[in-house]
Amino acid sequence: METNKLTTEKHTKHNQQSSCPQCEDNRVATSIQDYEYVYGTGESAVRLKIKIPVHNCLECELQYTDWEAEEIKHNALCQHLGVLNPNQIKQLRERYDMSRSAFAQLTGLGEASLNRWEKGINIQNLAHDRFLRLLNEPSILKKLQRTVLSLEAKREGLPENIEPFRHIKNREKLRLDQSVFELRTTG
Ligand SMILES: [Zn+2]
Repeated sequence: METNKLTTEKHTKHNQQSSCPQCEDNRVATSIQDYEYVYGTGESAVRLKIKIPVHNCLECELQYTDWEAEEIKHNALCQHLGVLNPNQIKQLRERYDMSRSAFAQLTGLGEASLNRWEKGINIQNLAHDRFLRLLNEPSILKKLQRTVLSLEAKREGLPENIEPFRHIKNREKLRLDQSVFELRTTG
């Protein structure tokens, strides 16, 4: 048994937080161990070789893993499938400073689905994943925002050209700012 491979690396933070789930003792050592994560069954089963933190209780000798190992497994699977992992999805959304519900409203994605993807409960399919990757490009997200606004305006019978005009104005302002900047640097 590989019980007392005492690794006192970076994991002290988690050691302090977690006590043994069996005897509740705080003296828990963590070691990084090789792990073969088997996903799926039969011939199509995927075997992913990863390293996960394994905790060893020094009191009752229980060996166990926690959320950290689950997260590593989940991320390895996402990488294997070629899709964004939960953190990447969350970062994408937070990059725009949008709540989950605002993001759901804009994109038409289900808020519950987003929640499950961000928490690693489910993995988005390829179509959703590629849609998310497009949204990671600010100009595309802005375009979608304008499209949605225009669609909503049409539905409500409001003038639909408010937002596009504002956009053009911003662009002109940007060009103006740039030219001012150029004058200052070349002069
Ligand atoms: Zn214990």
